[in-house]
Amino acid sequence: MSLPHPRELVRSLEFMADVCNRRRDGELDSAKSLKELCAGWRFPGASAVTKADAEATWTHVPRLEAMWDADRDTAASMANRIFAECDARPHLVRHDGFDWHLHGLPAGAPIADVIAVDAAMAFVDLVRVDDTERCKRCGDGRCERMFFDLSRNRSRRFCSTTCQSRTNVAAFRARAAAS
Ligand SMILES: [Zn+2]
Ligand SMILES: [Zn+2]
Repeated sequence: MSLPHPRELVRSLEFMADVCNRRRDGELDSAKSLKELCAGWRFPGASAVTKADAEATWTHVPRLEAMWDADRDTAASMANRIFAECDARPHLVRHDGFDWHLHGLPAGAPIADVIAVDAAMAFVDLVRVDDTERCKRCGDGRCERMFFDLSRNRSRRFCSTTCQSRTNVAAFRARAAAS
């Protein structure tokens, strides 16, 4: 399957969704859990996550969720606000076998800010090509997890096949009961 966006960008957006979803599910509640999540995604700077880093990250989560749910124009201004508040300094780097790519903050910056700026940089690309609509929430009202829709015609409605089949079964039962 060919992706509608570069793999790097898709990864950043999926990481952002994972942070927000796990925070909402109560799975992210400590420095340890944040460290493990970052390590799992091989997100840079994960080894030195402190309690203060974790708490700073939790304060960013609601604005990341809001940017995910926002229309294009609002998302643009939200990304700008993150850049200003986190004092973003985009620069090109080549490290650990990765070819030249953009970092938003200097090495050693607080991981909470790195997470927020990385998300805002991903939104720069989505806003420019007018594709923020791929940032969706699961259509199952009991789930509502964030997911990035990679389908060609932007038609995906559920975060997983589990939610999709649960909703289909419920709709089938409702139809059967009504007939
Ligand atoms: Zn890098
Ligand atoms: Zn779902």
